[in-house]
Amino acid sequence: MDILTINNLSKCFDMKAKKRIYAVKDIDLHIKEGEALGLVGESGCGKSTLAKLILQLERPTEGEVIYKDEDLVKKKFRQMQEIRNELQMVFQNSANMFNPYFTVKQIIMEPINDKTVSKEEKEKMIVAMLEKLGLDESFVNRYGNELSGGQRQRVGIARALISQPRFVVCDEAVSSLDYIIKKQILDLLLSLKEQMGLTYLFISHDLSSVKRVCDRVVVMYLGNIVEILPRLDEDARHPYTKALLAASLDIDPRNRTKQKVLYKEHGEKSIPKEGCIFQYRCLYANDECRSKRPELKGGDGDHLVACHLCRD
Ligand code: SF4
Repeated sequence: MDILTINNLSKCFDMKAKKRIYAVKDIDLHIKEGEALGLVGESGCGKSTLAKLILQLERPTEGEVIYKDEDLVKKKFRQMQEIRNELQMVFQNSANMFNPYFTVKQIIMEPINDKTVSKEEKEKMIVAMLEKLGLDESFVNRYGNELSGGQRQRVGIARALISQPRFVVCDEAVSSLDYIIKKQILDLLLSLKEQMGLTYLFISHDLSSVKRVCDRVVVMYLGNIVEILPRLDEDARHPYTKALLAASLDIDPRNRTKQKVLYKEHGEKSIPKEGCIFQYRCLYANDECRSKRPELKGGDGDHLVACHLCRD
């Protein structure tokens, strides 16, 4: 069952000289209840914009975001405030999102401030949530600026989960953490997903984290989805996905030549007026690629690719 259905979602920005740029273009996506859906691609490909459009933190130029049979795009600001607790976000650097001179209690309590529960009940909720995140009761009265990076990120997650959401966007939620803390937070996110029945949209440029957490992965390039695959593994078919995987694996400099057969690293990044969105950087581009935009399709429903060369 889908928790969110995104239809034809686009976000266009007006630039100088009457130029218009699409940050996100014609996105169709089904997010299944209880899954961890990965969203990957280079910086500036539209990942965070798409997440903000889904949560209505930015309004789309066109399209629909269906949640509980209603289109969130049509909701007014006040109506969205009522739904907001069910749709939450964990940011890359949670420390920047809250006042360092607030106590942990004040930080976590903010999303439930307007709830009709007593102060004592709220405090119990906060202690229980901190325990879930591996922080004991003594953290309640500590200030944000007294916490380590890993502790701050845990408090950021506690703040997002205190209102019992159903859907959580993790936007580069572990990117600023060192390896050991990152592993702990990823394990924690997986365990909370099971305990609380959460659905994640997990945005990251760190493919090893995506492989660890995600059940399905969406690959974006210049605001478009180019591939949706069951797991980020060897079965990637789109030349761009293959290049991303190759780049993430190429620790050994002797292997770097392999990337060059997949990917024009310094190819033009402007958006083609017609044809495939990846044509300027793809070494396989042919006349069909330059004239006709490939549809996102596939043999089975779980693996979709937008490439003329992937016809099965
Ligand atoms: Fe490359 Fe053509 Fe496939 Fe686009 S459609 S990814 S240009 S082969």
